[in-house]
Formats: sequence, structure tokens, C-alpha cells
Amino acid sequence: MATVLAVKPQDGAKKASPPPLPAPNVDFYQLAETLPAEEQAVLKQVRAFTQAKVEPIITKYWVEDAFPFEVLPAIQELNIGGIAMKGYGCRGGSALLFGLVAMELARCDASISTFFGVHNGLAMGSIYLGGSEEQKQKWLPPMARWEKIGCFGLTEPGVGSGASGGLTTTAKREGDTWVINGQKKWIGNAPWCDISIIWARDVADNQVKSFIVENKTTPGYSVEKIQNKIGLKVVQNGLITLNNCRIPEENRLQDDKSFRDTARVLKMTRFMVGWEATGCAMGAYENALKYCQERLQFGKPIASFQLVQDLLAKMIANITASQCLIARMAQLQAEGKLTDAHAALAKAFTTAKCRETVAWARELLGGNGLAADYKVGRFFADAEALYSYEGTYQMQNLILGKAITGLSAFI
Ligand SMILES: Cc1cc2nc3c(=O)[nH]c(=O)nc-3n(C[C@H](O)[C@H](O)[C@H](O)COP(=O)(O)OP(=O)(O)OC[C@H]3O[C@@H](n4cnc5c(N)ncnc54)[C@H](O)[C@@H]3O)c2cc1C
Repeated sequence: MATVLAVKPQDGAKKASPPPLPAPNVDFYQLAETLPAEEQAVLKQVRAFTQAKVEPIITKYWVEDAFPFEVLPAIQELNIGGIAMKGYGCRGGSALLFGLVAMELARCDASISTFFGVHNGLAMGSIYLGGSEEQKQKWLPPMARWEKIGCFGLTEPGVGSGASGGLTTTAKREGDTWVINGQKKWIGNAPWCDISIIWARDVADNQVKSFIVENKTTPGYSVEKIQNKIGLKVVQNGLITLNNCRIPEENRLQDDKSFRDTARVLKMTRFMVGWEATGCAMGAYENALKYCQERLQFGKPIASFQLVQDLLAKMIANITASQCLIARMAQLQAEGKLTDAHAALAKAFTTAKCRETVAWARELLGGNGLAADYKVGRFFADAEALYSYEGTYQMQNLILGKAITGLSAFI
């Protein structure tokens, strides 16, 4: 039998330390590199902002159910108001940049991204798409500077998914004034912001119209903060009551004639929720991967176990698939080809994949996944809101189902 000579390290020689483990890479297919250099720089600024200003404080605000007004000056400095909108003091830039910024914000915190989405997408977007030239000139510049913050009031206490045909908030024209009555529920930013885009049914022609309501100076307007939310706790949601609010005709968005125009705004913002959901999954994955690299069980990092790697591999696959899908959606948006069905598919797919991914991240933290201090629990809870708002998963699939079959299954 051959003798095997064991080579022993000499006395005092140190064992080579293992190479450092790789940092999580959430841009696996290098999507950000497809941006032009100046837009990559904007994205880097957004990342620097989230790391310096949001990351250190956000868990505390989330636990306390409070909005971090202290970050508003830094958001103003970032100059991302009206991103992807042209003129009117807006930041401009590509549809892809708009999406990547929303994703980057959500990667740190889905509430901050939602705040950005409600103001920049739903409120500014409503004016950008439905306002007259005069209205855009008046309202968009201060909103792009984040001096006036907006919200979007569509959902009502009794009407969510059925908003297209069922809004009960009414608008009655009296000369050059509209009298608005009704309630709006779940409205993000409403408890403290400056203006609301209110969608109401015109009693004369039964069509949905939209109005810019000045929250702080309109008699009959009141708002109650919705308490005890279990997700997106940093965004303040409100129950708005409009009691004989008198709104001048000049505050009716002049190009909005029916719910089709509401849907035009929602198409753009569902596009955005796809990015937010992908960012939320990225944040959960990054935190979970770091945890798995550090957490020891049975004397080894749990990231070295096959079943753990299987979950991590499925998570980065979900994220990468979502990123590629929404990047193509940004191309369609830029070419003016994005349809309601395209946006619905993206919103349904990315939010479902986000929900799956954050649940796996939560699972990988074991008990610590339930503690807000480990961050993953926050992404886990926030994903539930992304899955349901701006049209639930079922509503998106009904929009898509109608487009692919030619048959409506709504009612
Ligand atoms: C955190 C948060 C923020 C929000 N922000 C805003 C905001 O800023 N502005 C705003 O206007 N709204 C906002 N919303 C409201 C949100 O858009 C609605 O909650 C959502 O559209 C669903 O409406 P609903 O809650 O009334 O549920 P419902 O419409 O009552 O639905 C309940 C369930 O029934 C299902 N369902 C309903 N109809 C059908 C059908 N025909 N076929 C199959 N299933 C069906 C739904 O998919 C869902 O699962 C927000 C909600 C949340 C939770």
C-alpha cells in the first residue's frame, strides 16, 4: 500500500483565511448600465440619499406609524420631482430612469417609494395628463419642487375595485362652481398634504370627472388619519370627507371626461408599482442574503445549506425576471405603445413575485424575521399593500384576461 505523506503546516504558520463572501448583487443582469451616463448619475444620487438619509431612520418611523418630514429637504435637493415629465419645471428623463428611481427608493423602503409615487405619479400625473395648459403651468412647477404635495382620491369606503362604474362621490355644477359631496378612503399623503385630485361622478351626465381640491383652505373638506395599518406604515393614509365643497370650474381638470381618463393615469402608475414591487423584493433579498452569510447554525453559515441556497436562488430569479419584464415595459412606455393590459400584466406579475420573495426572505430570518429591527419584516408587510393597491391582483388579471380572450369577466 502506498504511504500517504501528510504535509503538516509548520509551527507558527497561519491558515490562509477564506476569501470574503460576495456582497449581494441585486442588479444581476446589469440593468442600470443600460441608462445613459447622466441618468446613471441620478440613480447613484438617489442611492446615496436613501443610504444616508432614509436607511438609518426608517425602521423607527415605520414602527411609530409616522412620516419622516425630516427627509423632505433632502428629497427637494435631489431634484427628482416630475421625473420623466417634460416642461413645467419637471425633472424630465427617460421612462426607464423613472422606473429605476422608484425601484431604488423601494429597495430601501416601500413607503418612501409610495410617497414618491402618489405625489409624482398619481397627483402630478393626473394634472400632466388631464390638465389644460394653464392648469399645468399653475400647479406642476410647485409640485415638481415638492413645495405643494399632492394625493389622489379615487377609492371610497364602499367602492374599490368597482370604481369604474360605481363611484358615489358626486359633483354638481352650479354656474362656475362645482359642489362635491362624498368620501374617499385609503388616500396616501391625505392627512397632511396640500392638494387632492378628487374623482367624482357628474350628476348631469353620470361621467367621472376630476378636481383639484385645496385641502387646507376648502370649507367642508376634512380628513382623518387611518390608524393601525399593518403595512406601508410610513405613508399616512386618510379618510377624506367632502361636505358641500365648492370647487371652481378652473380647478376641474379640463381634459378628463370619463373614467377612461382615470384609467389613463392608472396605466402610468401601475407601471410604477411594478418597479416599486421589484425594489421591495430587492431590499428583502439583500437583507436576507447578508443575514444568511452571517448567521451560523450547526457551526456553519446558513447560506452554505442547499435548501437555503435554493430559496436565495429563486428570490434573485424572481427579481431578475421582474426587472427584465418592467424594463421592456419602459421601452413600450417610451414608444407610446404601453396598453392597459401590458401595465396590468406587469403589476400583477411583479407584485405576486414580490410577495413570494419577501415571504421567503422572512422565512430565512427565522424568528428574527418577525422583528422590525431586522428590516425584512417591514418589506414583508409592505408587499401586502403593493399587491392590493392601484387595483388588486384579481383586477389586473381581469383586465389582462379581457385583452387576451376578447371577453369581459368583470361582472
Ligand atoms: C396602503 C394603501 C394605500 C392606498 N392608497 C390609495 C390612494 O392613494 N388613493 C386611492 O384612491 N386608493 C388608495 N388605496 C385603495 C386601493 O387602491 C384599494 O384598496 C384597492 O383598489 C382595492 O379596493 P378595496 O380595498 O375596496 O377592495 P375590494 O374592491 O372590496 O376587493 C376585495 C377583494 O375582492 C376581490 N374582487 C372584487 N371584485 C372582484 C371581481 N369582479 N372578481 C374577482 N375578485 C374581485 C378583490 O380582488 C379583493 O381581493 C390604498 C390602499 C392601501 C391598502
